[in-house]
Amino acid sequence: MAVKERKFVKASSGEAVKTTKSKTEEKVSYTKEARHERATGKRIIAIVFWVLAIACEVVFFLTLNKTIYIKNYQLYVQIGALVLDLIFVIIGSQFWKRANDVDPASDANSVKFFLQNQMGLIVSILAFVPIVIVLLTNKDLDKKTKQVLVPVAAVALVLASLLSIDWNPISEEEYQATAQALKGEAVYYTQFGKSYHLDPDCRALKNSSVVYEGTIEEALDAGRNDPCDFCVEQ
Ligand SMILES: [Zn+2]
Repeated sequence: MAVKERKFVKASSGEAVKTTKSKTEEKVSYTKEARHERATGKRIIAIVFWVLAIACEVVFFLTLNKTIYIKNYQLYVQIGALVLDLIFVIIGSQFWKRANDVDPASDANSVKFFLQNQMGLIVSILAFVPIVIVLLTNKDLDKKTKQVLVPVAAVALVLASLLSIDWNPISEEEYQATAQALKGEAVYYTQFGKSYHLDPDCRALKNSSVVYEGTIEEALDAGRNDPCDFCVEQ
């Protein structure tokens, strides 16, 4: 079997690395304060997109009671509002999850930990459940409109929720313990995987065309917080 050609890239600069296990250097600060500051921008962007999503939901309700009424195109306007609502929820949730990778919640308070990590799910519910309920209970709506809009809204609710849930949240305590344990070590991760690796030749990395080499903090900030089952001892 041919060995796949792989490119190793420095996570901090994007430059190609010639030899793996090269010395890692830290240019960025990873104190809790510095990470919190970096996450704040992402959280603001997330909230802006979520506000836009709720605005689309409001527009949708205004089309239902015909405050907004565009003859012959009403159904298209309604579907458009639902689709934009969905897109804005999902984009907001991705920024929110990236912020939590960089600046995780403490697990000292489990309610707060859940709320911070699953805020995207909560927004998804807020953005679509009222729409689904109103569509199902509205007596004035004609049958055809209902038949089109109920499935669209239901699928949007499911998609938004699935893509907004943080399936693998890390706590601040875990972040610090992992960063401490692997201080100064070169770690490896890929463009799409959720894991970090210690062995550049790990079998789970063999099929990736680009492998990032960086510090453990760079991997954690990129959301690669799952220790590889093959090359990281736990
Ligand atoms: Zn591995």
